[in-house]
Amino acid sequence: MGDSGDTLILGIDLGGTKILTAVANAQGMMLSRDHSITPAKEGQQAVVKSILESISRALDQAHIAAADLAAIGLGAPGLSNPETGILYTSPNLPGWKDVPLCDIVEKELGRKVFLINDANAAAVGELYFGAGRGTRNFIYITISTGIGGGIIIDGKIYTGSTGTAGELGHMVIDDEGPRCNCGNRGCWEVLASGTALAREARHRIKDGAATSILKYAHGDIEKINAEAIHEAAQAGDKLANELIAQTAYYFGVGLANLINIFNPEVIVIGGGLSNIGDMLLKPAFDEAGRRAFRQSYQAVRFARAELGRNSGVLGAAALALEQIKSTGKLNKRR
Ligand SMILES: [Zn+2]
Repeated sequence: MGDSGDTLILGIDLGGTKILTAVANAQGMMLSRDHSITPAKEGQQAVVKSILESISRALDQAHIAAADLAAIGLGAPGLSNPETGILYTSPNLPGWKDVPLCDIVEKELGRKVFLINDANAAAVGELYFGAGRGTRNFIYITISTGIGGGIIIDGKIYTGSTGTAGELGHMVIDDEGPRCNCGNRGCWEVLASGTALAREARHRIKDGAATSILKYAHGDIEKINAEAIHEAAQAGDKLANELIAQTAYYFGVGLANLINIFNPEVIVIGGGLSNIGDMLLKPAFDEAGRRAFRQSYQAVRFARAELGRNSGVLGAAALALEQIKSTGKLNKRR
């Protein structure tokens, strides 16, 4: 972001389980970083209070006041409108409906606040400070309990007409597939996420499949997760390898769709499930190669996300900085 000097921005990554807040400069260097638990079950007011407390600790740690901030960027899960700063609903924040999140924080801090979907924030973080640096067209995908993502077109996050674009995880892969949390059947995330992998393992074990997966889940079928299956696969378990191959297959089908639609330079992949690495990603890329147009597939490069848990908080900060630069709202109060 070049000549922004020591412009300071505050980024917040609000998740269903944790709140990460950081003060960063325009180069993405973090001056402070506060990590706390999201009291999601206690409702909206408790969460807002926790956000404000986290901001206050992050400012103290960086030895600055709210007045020293150029702006605040807030990444939040669920459907939101970045223009109005309203969070419509969030599967991870039960009870939230049409919350004017930006107004609430602005009133408290006296600084302009910009709202962005959490997966989009992570994409922007990778664009400015991570694996997407120097590129103009890329897709960011995070695979963990679900699949999220962000679409960068011509150096900007694509948010669509009402701000809800980039729901990659709900692209339908199998119209008669398992039911997704969103109500549809066979969404990408219900076939290729860590949750999907664990669900399939439980099904197969209940059906009597011979496998050592349970051993890696402390003998408790409900404790089976992607890590347990990965460990079993590494130890040569046949079912575990088969299940990871199936997840890779579906992941690859979705990648082929994205490659054909967007013809991206890079596809950046992050999230817990991507830690399985080549065992999952290599066959997925190969499947995408069998399905995507040759020209588009040859043009795309696959990269692992570089910012880890900081992608969201740095992306929210980068978005806020970008917004104040483009709208000239620096230091002005609304
Ligand atoms: Zn869905």
